[in-house]
Amino acid sequence: MDIKMEMGPGILRRCPCGALTVVLTSKTKENPGRRFYRCGVVFGENHLFKWADEAIVEEIEALAEKQVAIENGMLEIKEQVIEFKKDLTEIVEVIAASSKHLRK
Ligand SMILES: [Zn+2]
Repeated sequence: MDIKMEMGPGILRRCPCGALTVVLTSKTKENPGRRFYRCGVVFGENHLFKWADEAIVEEIEALAEKQVAIENGMLEIKEQVIEFKKDLTEIVEVIAASSKHLRK
């Protein structure tokens, strides 16, 4: 297979081929003891290989982006709750006013 497969950012549970990834420790002179993720089935081109330290940094960056999105979502919800409370107060006032009319 020579199709270039897209590797997403962060810690990947699966290789683009569909196989689960494994985490191993490098025993090379260049990177002794450095942990890495790789395809659990095929070790080669087009299959996942990623240094764990780099994957973790990417994962944290992706999580930080998600957190910003969640915080923004929360702010929107808070604003909506404030609006709903205002609407509810108005509705209660309208009901109170119309029930006074009915009693007269
Ligand atoms: Zn693979």
